[in-house]
Amino acid sequence: MNETETRKPDFDFENFTFGVQSTDRMLLAAYQKGEWTEYRIAPVQSISLSPLAMCFHYGQTVFEGLKAFRMTDGKINIFRMESHWKRMNRSLERMAMPPLPRTLFMDGILELLKMESDWVIDDPDYSLYIRPFVIATENKLGVDASQEYLFMVVLSPMRAYYNKPLKVKVETDYIRSARGGAGAAKNGGNYGASLLPQINAKKEGFDQIIWLDAKEKKYIEESGTMNILFILNGNTLVTPALSDSILDGITRDSLLKLASEEGFTVEERQVAIEEIVERIENGERVEAFGAGTAAVISPIETISYKGKSHATYLEPDAGMYRLKNKLSAVRKGMNPDTYGWNQLLDA
Ligand SMILES: *Cc1c(COP(=O)(O)O)cnc(C)c1O
Repeated sequence: MNETETRKPDFDFENFTFGVQSTDRMLLAAYQKGEWTEYRIAPVQSISLSPLAMCFHYGQTVFEGLKAFRMTDGKINIFRMESHWKRMNRSLERMAMPPLPRTLFMDGILELLKMESDWVIDDPDYSLYIRPFVIATENKLGVDASQEYLFMVVLSPMRAYYNKPLKVKVETDYIRSARGGAGAAKNGGNYGASLLPQINAKKEGFDQIIWLDAKEKKYIEESGTMNILFILNGNTLVTPALSDSILDGITRDSLLKLASEEGFTVEERQVAIEEIVERIENGERVEAFGAGTAAVISPIETISYKGKSHATYLEPDAGMYRLKNKLSAVRKGMNPDTYGWNQLLDA
């Protein structure tokens, strides 16, 4: 592929499956002898690794997920890029992997996006998903922290589809993460371990799982690979307080800030599953939804706990839709960017 070639004209932006197609170029940088080398941007290609490479054996892999949008004024916005860089470094630290310098992450991704800007089309339902990741590449079978790593970034088109409200099951056997574990890091192993419980729940007719705390199996932690939030009585936003077993979601954080602005009472605290179930059974209005970069919010329709299903509030006037629209308006540049969340690129 030369500088001007692109597969974009052949890509059907209306109809595609998320995550199976990348754009034309990727970013690569290696970590050797204690430092990160200059990044390079190259055509998307397969990489060659020795079967002894440590990423194949001991799980030193960390990733991020963020999005670029075309704003109403034509600029490209990479939403909360700096927060994603900081979180990636927290994940890397937990996995005994070297941090990424700010310039490598920020300048590298901005340059890649500049070259791939044609893939950020102007469509309200479209975004370009950015997947930075780091893998251990030292060739060594002894269990140890790798001395060599590879940082890569790939881009993949994404379309917001109507997300059907989810039927979720409270998982009472498996856990996602325990206190002292690595649940707050976006490392590959957390996701591998969640697949079997997820598949089992699907077989039972559920779309998703609610994870409980590992110790008492009493307090709600997350839903699938999203944070979970509740709106009680239309005016109080409640979400599990962060800990080392909960991923510090940037969507969660954004929604909490916007909810305060909107006049909601915001509570970050322990949320017992019994409390939520009792409130619903007492006829209180309870909204429940997942929050994450991919879908922003995923409304939950029923929560099944110990074999009994409990229906949440889903009417069009639900507060979660108001918060989602408010967040979208900031990202698109239609509302003021009070918190400096938008990283803009003229391209
Ligand atoms: C990525 C992720 C989230 C959501 O984080 P965002 O920054 O909002 O995308 C929540 N939970 C888990 C387990 C995650 O991996």
